[in-house]
Amino acid sequence: MSETNVPTITLNNGTAIPQLGFGVFRVDPDRTAEIAGTALEVGYRHIDTAAGYRNEAGVGDAVRASGIDRDDLWITTKLANGDQEHPDDAFQASLDALGLDAVDLYLIHWPVPAKDIYPSVWKTLIAIAESGRARSIGVSNFRIEHLERIIAETGVVPAVNQVELHVDFQQRELKAFHAEHGIATEAWYPLGGGSLSEAPELRRIADAHGKTVAQVVLRWHMHDGNIAIPKSNHRERMVENLDIFDFELTPADLDAIAALDKAEEGRRGGHPLQVG
Ligand code: NDP
Repeated sequence: MSETNVPTITLNNGTAIPQLGFGVFRVDPDRTAEIAGTALEVGYRHIDTAAGYRNEAGVGDAVRASGIDRDDLWITTKLANGDQEHPDDAFQASLDALGLDAVDLYLIHWPVPAKDIYPSVWKTLIAIAESGRARSIGVSNFRIEHLERIIAETGVVPAVNQVELHVDFQQRELKAFHAEHGIATEAWYPLGGGSLSEAPELRRIADAHGKTVAQVVLRWHMHDGNIAIPKSNHRERMVENLDIFDFELTPADLDAIAALDKAEEGRRGGHPLQVG
């Protein structure tokens, strides 16, 4: 399996992010070096962690053990909600845990509107990017009103907004806003967060292409322009989830998947107005 099949998305600052990456949420910190190491071995070149996952050190260990050139890897991490009051220190702590001089992408994990300090946090991320320690900066779980506010207050548009997005919850309105403003959409829970959709349409499409439902779902993310970061603790699923570039979904397949959207009723994870 080679990483070279994975396309890139060009962000609004001109950098290219591998469209398919590997997420490590809920990967045991004690096993992260091994699991992220397997992901790198089977061909992933983009890893998504967060201070809140407490496994940045394992990701850093996997990077070093892999022997892969740092310039060939994309590493994302995120500012924990409890650190919004001191983002610069928290960012340095993430770099130290990772053992890296810079990350490729640093995200505000949640807006935490109850604190209402995300615009000043965004200003700190802008300074971090200017220092070169984060090559790109963005946000996660931001709604349109949060994006509008940070853009209005700073003039700096996030490169990425990482949000819950899967076949049951397709985020059409937010994606249209992203497209209008040049923000890349990154999908968390790309496979539905552990309960793959059992829609018969997906099974039919998968059978028609000789693929699994997970592969069809990830291929759909690619067609839809999303960056996707599926997680698996299992090598064979890591390989399966990367092996999606040898078939094309038809326009009819794409229409059938679009029709599975349950909009807000499809949400499975935390709500951006409540988390934090
Ligand atoms: P996913 O949608 O990636 O689903 C992961 C689950 O699906 C696991 O239970 C995994 O099981 C299973 N799975 C993986 N591959 C397959 C397959 N081929 N067939 C069947 N089942 C499969 O959910 P995640 O929660 O992991 O989200 C992905 C990433 O998104 C996270 O790891 C994290 O990096 C990011 N994230 C970000 C959030 C944010 O607030 N910004 C919130 C949540 C996630 P197993 O491991 O046993 O194989």
